[in-house]
Amino acid sequence: MRKVAIVLGVMMAVGTAQDEERVTETERSRFVFFAVLEGLWEDGADPALVRPIAEDTDGYFVPKCPICLPVQHAASVYVTSGDVPAFSARGKSGWPAEIADGMKGRDLNGRRAALERMVARYVDRRFDRLRFADARRDAMKESLRLGMKQGMRLFGESPLGEYKKCPSCAGAAEAKK
Ligand SMILES: [Zn+2]
Repeated sequence: MRKVAIVLGVMMAVGTAQDEERVTETERSRFVFFAVLEGLWEDGADPALVRPIAEDTDGYFVPKCPICLPVQHAASVYVTSGDVPAFSARGKSGWPAEIADGMKGRDLNGRRAALERMVARYVDRRFDRLRFADARRDAMKESLRLGMKQGMRLFGESPLGEYKKCPSCAGAAEAKK
């Protein structure tokens, strides 16, 4: 009986570990969405600089890409939402120069590169903040890479041709953590 209990215990432990390691599309989308929304809010990015991304006026995204969509939606929520009344929650520093100057630049691919740096900055930060167990972190990173592959299969439908990669996917999948 004791043996059975031990075997069952081991099986349950294995099952739990696998469940924790699996990252669903919903979880990945939420991870990216809140990484970007929180990052924008925390930096207090200038909404005028974020608006072109939210409106995709210059072709920053791959249509239907599972990484691009939550990035763009976060930008859209940011520019269309006010700060917390009375108790401001937005940071005051704005984007660091490497992102702000890139987004202000005349070169379209330079602006796309700035978006890529922005996504990498915020995804890195969210990995830092959530302190996943190693297996969970690796599973999320793998899910981001799979999302990028899925996005790249749709790349031909985007106006990003000369940039040769999806800024959001590259930023998320190549984040350091
Ligand atoms: Zn993408």
